[in-house]
Amino acid sequence: MLKHTRSTCPYCGVGCGVVIESQGQHITGVRGDPDHPANWGRLCTKGATLALTASPHIQQQTRLLQPQMRTQRQGATQAISWEQALDLASHKLLDVVQRHGPDALGFYVSGQLLTEDYYVFNKLAKGLLGTNNIDTNSRLCMSSAVAGYKLTLGADAPPACYEDVDHAQCLFIVGSNTAWAHPILFRRIEEAKAARPDLKMVVADPRRTETAGLADLFLPLQPGTDVALFHGLLHIMLWEGWTQPDFIAQHTSGFEALKTLVRDFTPDKVADICGLRKEDVFTAAQWFATSPATLSLYCQGLNQSTSGTAKNAALINLHLATGQIGKLGAGPFSLTGQPNAMGGREVGGMANLLSAHRDLANPKHRAEVAALWGVGHVPEQPGKTAVDMFEAAADGQIKALWIACTNPAQSMPHQSTVRRALERAEWVVVQEAFASTATCAYADLLLPATTWGEKEGTVTNSERRISRVRAAIEPPGQARHDWHIAVQLAQRLEQHLRPGQPSLFQYSSAESVWLEHRESTRGRDLDITGLSYELLEQQGPQQWPFASGSTQGTARLYQDGVFPTPDGRARFAAMPYVAVAEKREPKYPFSLNTGRLRDHWHGMSRTGVLGRLFGHVPEPVIQMHPQDMARRNFKEGSLVRVSSKRGSLVVPVQASAELGLSQTFMAMHWGSEYLSGQDAQGMPLGGVNALTSPEVCPSSHQPELKHAAIKVEAIDLPWSLMAMAWLPSSSVWQVQSQLRPLMSRFDFASCVPFGRERTGLMLRVGNAQAADAVLIDEIEQALGLASSTALRYVDPQRGQRRCAQLDTSLDSNSSMLQGFLLAGDTQSATWMSTMLTQQIPAQVPAQTFRRQLLMPGGSPPAAMPESMHLASQQICNCLDVSASAIKEHLVSCKGSPQDRLTSLQQQLGCGTQCGSCVPEIKRLISISP
Ligand code: SF4
Repeated sequence: MLKHTRSTCPYCGVGCGVVIESQGQHITGVRGDPDHPANWGRLCTKGATLALTASPHIQQQTRLLQPQMRTQRQGATQAISWEQALDLASHKLLDVVQRHGPDALGFYVSGQLLTEDYYVFNKLAKGLLGTNNIDTNSRLCMSSAVAGYKLTLGADAPPACYEDVDHAQCLFIVGSNTAWAHPILFRRIEEAKAARPDLKMVVADPRRTETAGLADLFLPLQPGTDVALFHGLLHIMLWEGWTQPDFIAQHTSGFEALKTLVRDFTPDKVADICGLRKEDVFTAAQWFATSPATLSLYCQGLNQSTSGTAKNAALINLHLATGQIGKLGAGPFSLTGQPNAMGGREVGGMANLLSAHRDLANPKHRAEVAALWGVGHVPEQPGKTAVDMFEAAADGQIKALWIACTNPAQSMPHQSTVRRALERAEWVVVQEAFASTATCAYADLLLPATTWGEKEGTVTNSERRISRVRAAIEPPGQARHDWHIAVQLAQRLEQHLRPGQPSLFQYSSAESVWLEHRESTRGRDLDITGLSYELLEQQGPQQWPFASGSTQGTARLYQDGVFPTPDGRARFAAMPYVAVAEKREPKYPFSLNTGRLRDHWHGMSRTGVLGRLFGHVPEPVIQMHPQDMARRNFKEGSLVRVSSKRGSLVVPVQASAELGLSQTFMAMHWGSEYLSGQDAQGMPLGGVNALTSPEVCPSSHQPELKHAAIKVEAIDLPWSLMAMAWLPSSSVWQVQSQLRPLMSRFDFASCVPFGRERTGLMLRVGNAQAADAVLIDEIEQALGLASSTALRYVDPQRGQRRCAQLDTSLDSNSSMLQGFLLAGDTQSATWMSTMLTQQIPAQVPAQTFRRQLLMPGGSPPAAMPESMHLASQQICNCLDVSASAIKEHLVSCKGSPQDRLTSLQQQLGCGTQCGSCVPEIKRLISISP
């Protein structure tokens, strides 16, 4: 029988509601929840494909389904029981505590955990074990936003809500490619703009992104110069008399110091620092200050910076100076990266926080939390934040790492330190749903955790809205809920740490954990004592605060002009502009920016299991401005070596006019699971974060993932290999895990899935010398190309090998390519990959076709249309519509941009489903004659 379960999307902080369809133990479908106020039934490409990621054959191959241990690092794992695993884990932790004290432990958890999971982990570390060394990947995501809010407004609370988009008269989007990172919110922005064309939209970003495509004014500022821009805007506002002196006088403090600071940020100076036109800066200041309602939306461009707190605070200064806060359609509004970064902050699950927005540094707060938990005290010493924690483990101070629901061997900056930490730690536990993450390879103990569709609890999205996460199916295999694993560990530890005393962890369900969390919020800014699971069940998701006695949550904060500071006034923060930590220099002349792709999520442990989500951006690349490429004589797609002071990688280069000169961009998703190789010393490379900087903001401790100085050089790897094959769904992910260790044996290798209804794998290799025949045999074997029916050509003298697997079952005149491997000469890879992925039958006798496949430098079959020799980029993922199909249609479709969009939607269907591709379609329309 078909069951429908309301839950929440596990990806971004928009926090869309979903309805999961399941039959028995299988998730069979997903759709947007029409009643969820974050999305009103819509989902983006990622959310809409969630059910596919939970299909049985993927689960069987990618999930961790039983506890496993290693007796030797890098060795094989062996299955053990939960009893054995938890006994072993508690024994090892106690041993470390006994020998080195509790601060030799480090817990690294995740903004993708549910609030209940987070709560128990926090109490386990700080309350039971007595260490504040618990931090989370939210440190890489939102900690600057937190620090900015607390510094200026007095509490970690975004004042605005999604509904404000519908009422804003000016949208100021900065450091956020909302169109790709928060697509469903961007649909709302598009609608607001369409309904009210006079809505002014300013986008400030070093890249001309899809989001910028909708802007009335685009400010392509230099990386890291946001504080200078914001101070410059305030300078103009003051000069022009556009600030609100009454609001400033009645509701704020500290304005004089800020006025003094921004005096120097003249339009000339700001234009120079930021690389902007003075007139544009003036227009932005005017629109921001004089609009009846200005709403700022911002994300990692502000947060992932060594000036992250200053950037957030300087933007909030503008709202305070102009009174653009606490009213309909106005306010600073940080967009949360992860689905539950905010829930984690609510329970204080970070190294410097305590439950319910309490501060670890505050003795009263520590005493309140200790009383709530029933422990003598909470340790005073601040814990180590993410970067510090891994550096401490690499230095040997932290001996045991417990990692839950995150993949630091992919996502943390400065991978060589992170990997040294994982190697050096005496004991590494990885609590994970997926067995395929890079971090799993370092674990001594692997604990299988439940994931989306199986978990129960709550999450809080960007607009402070708490939604229920519900299980549609039972946990597969022996997977357990994250909170439950932490409770079972805690109860074992208690037998030694609190013998004879009642357990602090007497939780029977996620709800029982949540009830304790709820009590901790009583009287705090995020008071949710008026909420219950039952109320969430009956009335749907609610925004905090929702105190006892309230009948509804709070849409927007500070409407009374009172802020949660000791004197009730918001505080202007006069923080100087400081440039990026690692400036471009002659040896490292390019800026590296990292960010999200439209169809993927973080380390891709979930989205990476769907070939169809690689249709939009099929392979790892580094993007550069076309002029920078021309100056260096780089050809599109050629391999380049990219190096920072910390590491290097080899990757194809791609021209992008979105970027400014001397700037480059690489998607954050490409870890060593997909992009590998080895350095000059033969050491394996660690994906894009081999390059990124561990420098952090001094207040928020968030690393500067948005900027590193790099050099980009041509690299001569004369020997190449390209292999692609369709694979059975029952084995494709096993094949991928077989190929991954082989990748580090080449100077460059990438391995990505492709396909839609079927899935295949594509392996691309570059190397200084011809690879060993045995290694190529292994690749052929893994990809199912080693059969006796495969066509084969081998020239060992020249390092050449070609093999192709055909399906001639249709008839002898219509062969279908099932897989191929080209080694040495890969010139025909382009047309062969198109033929394979598009399943174009070669309309020539198999005999002729065979010759073409095996001929070095071979040309495509004459019957293959020229337009198909080169695969076209997919634009619409839902209906699989390519850029070439859109361009072809536009040739004969004239009229206004809206008419052309409507025609494309009617004729090709693109942009009619989730809408994520609409900004890109509009861009194609804008450049089409
Ligand atoms: Fe999920 Fe997309 Fe909604 Fe984000 S915008 S919560 S990824 S469906």
